[in-house]
Amino acid sequence: MRVSERAQQAVPTATIQGGLPPGIASVLSVLRSSAVVVDGEDRVVRASSAARAFGMVAGDRLVVDELLALARLVRRDGEIRETEIQVVPSPARGRTEGRWFAVRVAPLGSHGLVLVLAEDLTEMRRVEAIRRDFVANVSHELKTPVGALSLLAETVENAADDPEAVRRFAGRMQHESVRLTNLVQDLMTLSRVQGDEPLPDMRAVSLDEVVAEALDRAQTKAAARDIEIVTGGQDGLTVRGDDDLLVTAVRNLIDNAAAYSPEGTRVVVATRQTDDGQVEINVTDQGIGIPEGDLERIFERFYRVDPARSRQTGGTGLGLAIVKHVTTKHGGEVTVWSKEGSGSTFTIRLPLLNPPTPPNP
Ligand code: ADP
Repeated sequence: MRVSERAQQAVPTATIQGGLPPGIASVLSVLRSSAVVVDGEDRVVRASSAARAFGMVAGDRLVVDELLALARLVRRDGEIRETEIQVVPSPARGRTEGRWFAVRVAPLGSHGLVLVLAEDLTEMRRVEAIRRDFVANVSHELKTPVGALSLLAETVENAADDPEAVRRFAGRMQHESVRLTNLVQDLMTLSRVQGDEPLPDMRAVSLDEVVAEALDRAQTKAAARDIEIVTGGQDGLTVRGDDDLLVTAVRNLIDNAAAYSPEGTRVVVATRQTDDGQVEINVTDQGIGIPEGDLERIFERFYRVDPARSRQTGGTGLGLAIVKHVTTKHGGEVTVWSKEGSGSTFTIRLPLLNPPTPPNP
């Protein structure tokens, strides 16, 4: 939607000489939709640049058959018509993907002129498809622990007179409900940071405190796998942000670093100020690393390099998506360097608040 608006505003409307009723041209030029006017002989007398760019008009002809047929119908009976069409520009022009338009065709005055207005729906449809996919993924992810819980409950019922079995299954029920809780918690965090609206609780936040808190929360899991977490770098850096979300982001990175590393290895969390007035939080592990082909996708919701391993570590598949959205919301970015078999470094970069004053000479 935004792209098409920009395209329409940036390029002046191309006019073909011909009789338009007075004032119509200026009205058409302020519309957001692509606009085409055809005369009584099907000749295009006016077309917005977008209508040409999207492949509806070539020269002085409407080249989309459905549009031409509609224009003729409207000219004949004077009825306004609406429809949705897909326009696929010719491959020869190097653009093969089709775009969807909501089209409204109406008579214009009494001289056989017909106005075609087309609103680009492509972006809206893309967003809808992403949303549908997401809902399908969430349902799928919820189904697994919920299914397991119901099965376990049934098993416990059948094993009522075997206290040892009951204890074992109850333990597994607990494990599944923790998984469920984590997933719901991550979904709630994601919905907080995905929207366009600014975060309400932005204040000066000490990075030292963020790292300390994240480390505290990640410690138990890491210690269970004999993974040592070491902090280092520059102290006293401050950013503007939501401390809870920043802690969650750093904690997710530490959790991953520990989860995807062999036992007995080390994770380093280091902060530093960059030359261009930003701060960096680097989380480095000596783990399994990430194949190059997956690097681009690991920040997508529910994307996992190895689904079996992620299930084993209890990951929700949302950790890095949350990190990405949290950093974006704070005006920063997250990047990754990784080498399979050697380890990974995730870097959160944020704008620095109040650069520390250099010590007096
Ligand atoms: P998950 O809950 O599966 O860990 P994330 O969104 O946190 O989901 O991470 C997505 C995927 O990226 C993981 O499944 C894993 O394959 C990969 N990954 C993330 N962090 C690391 C890391 N430090 N080392 C190796 N692989 C990682």
